[in-house]
Amino acid sequence: MATRVIPVDPFDLVIFGGTGDLAMRKIIPGLYRRFVAEQMPKDARIIGAARGELDDDGYRDFAREAIEKYVHAKNHDKDKIRDFLKCLSYFRIDALGEDGWKDLARIVRKDVVQAFYFSVGPRLFGALAKRLHKYKIAGPNARIVLEKPFGHDLESAKVLNAELAEYFDETQIYRIDHYLGKETVQNLMAVRFANILFEPLWNSQYIDHIQITVSETVGVGGRGGYYDKSGAMRDMVQNHLMQLLCLIAMEPPAHFDPDSVRDEKLKVIRALDPVPVDDIVRGQYRAEGDDPSYVEDAENPDSRTESYLAMKVHIANWRWNGTPFYLRTGKRLRARKSEIAVVFKEPPHSIFEPQEGRRCNELIIHLQPNEGMDLRVTIKEPGPGGMRLMDVLLDMSFAEALGEDAEDITDAYERLIMDVIRGNQTLFMRGDEVEAAWRWVDPIIQGWIDRGDKPKPYDAGSSGPEDALMLMHREGRRWREITE
Ligand code: NAD
Repeated sequence: MATRVIPVDPFDLVIFGGTGDLAMRKIIPGLYRRFVAEQMPKDARIIGAARGELDDDGYRDFAREAIEKYVHAKNHDKDKIRDFLKCLSYFRIDALGEDGWKDLARIVRKDVVQAFYFSVGPRLFGALAKRLHKYKIAGPNARIVLEKPFGHDLESAKVLNAELAEYFDETQIYRIDHYLGKETVQNLMAVRFANILFEPLWNSQYIDHIQITVSETVGVGGRGGYYDKSGAMRDMVQNHLMQLLCLIAMEPPAHFDPDSVRDEKLKVIRALDPVPVDDIVRGQYRAEGDDPSYVEDAENPDSRTESYLAMKVHIANWRWNGTPFYLRTGKRLRARKSEIAVVFKEPPHSIFEPQEGRRCNELIIHLQPNEGMDLRVTIKEPGPGGMRLMDVLLDMSFAEALGEDAEDITDAYERLIMDVIRGNQTLFMRGDEVEAAWRWVDPIIQGWIDRGDKPKPYDAGSSGPEDALMLMHREGRRWREITE
């Protein structure tokens, strides 16, 4: 199957924070891959902008390193790298200063798509937006792209939204959640809304529960100080897990356009019930051999910040009444894995002998490390021996469907950047969605603070604290294993 690539219009993309870790690992490699795929027009320009002393050649060296490190070797084509690097330049600027902005205004073209990627800490978002406006750099059609975290709580998110709204219309603001850029996340919408098979079963009558897991093997070492002010709830649940929950739980939108989809997601967030204390388990990883514990990584022996969070969530609407959603995420767990499991109910009446170990139907959506979907169904075990049943996984993964092209599944960042250039906001969070998510999260965090709750310790390399298992076991359910 040939990949269909639709080239985007010529653009100028200014990457503020263009020398940072995100630019190195994701933005530059992603743009290069789109260049190789001939989606990025040859006259597009990428301007790295940061505080560091660099010239154009220095920035091209930075980009070459990014490509060599983070793009698959089969795409290391000398000529293509050379041509791509020609699109790059560097501009030294301080987001908080006034020098250089007039020069930047002269450099950025007005007659092409303008995109400004704020790959910097959120404290600089307002300053950048203001200067892009003040120095008349951004035209009426310009787009700004914002990295997470978008606020620390409802109050700060509101301030940020208001600050940006002074200079940019909501239709120009692209809040990135890279989980939404994943192929499988979009495929989830296709599976739900382009088939007749699933949607009639997609409710509490047929779905027992849903599990969303985002587990990491790494700890917070290196950015412990930052993480300690955040924790799993702010760092992962408020954004990534919440967005996945929305896509699973939302009603079919009337159209596949940005506001129809985002309106439905917003309704889900607004329908989330407050979460009782007993339905949340927080944890902190212990030391393991030479590897430090969470509090050592955070350099805060009294830290009460969670590196692990599991919770049972209810959506108070007709479709989901009685179907719990279990969310869990954590650091230093057994495996790196992101998945959604939709666990269906037992058939209402079984005509077969009960059998040990049989599982219900499950739709498993794998987001990481390999994207794809499996459907668990029960069939008769082949051969003689009577009517013995067995569970099999129907592999709906892209490797099967795409053959050789599967290796080239577009990375989330490159898809999202191309969506910015195209002006398609469907996979970006709207301001009111972000605020609604904080409105739900804030009282939960405040409850921990008011009660002085302490996270439970868990072993590094485990599946998290014992109490998190109990969250499921007490209701006769079990988590899926955290294995790759
Ligand atoms: P980083 O610290 O590696 O890089 C920061 C960049 O900002 C550098 O280029 C630096 O020169 C520039 N910068 C800092 N202060 C500046 C100023 N006053 N004026 C102009 N430029 C300035 O950070 P990063 O890891 O690349 O992350 C950037 C943003 O993306 C952060 O908000 C981070 O939370 C978010 N983010 C990063 C990742 C990741 O994987 N690195 C993932 C998700 C979100």
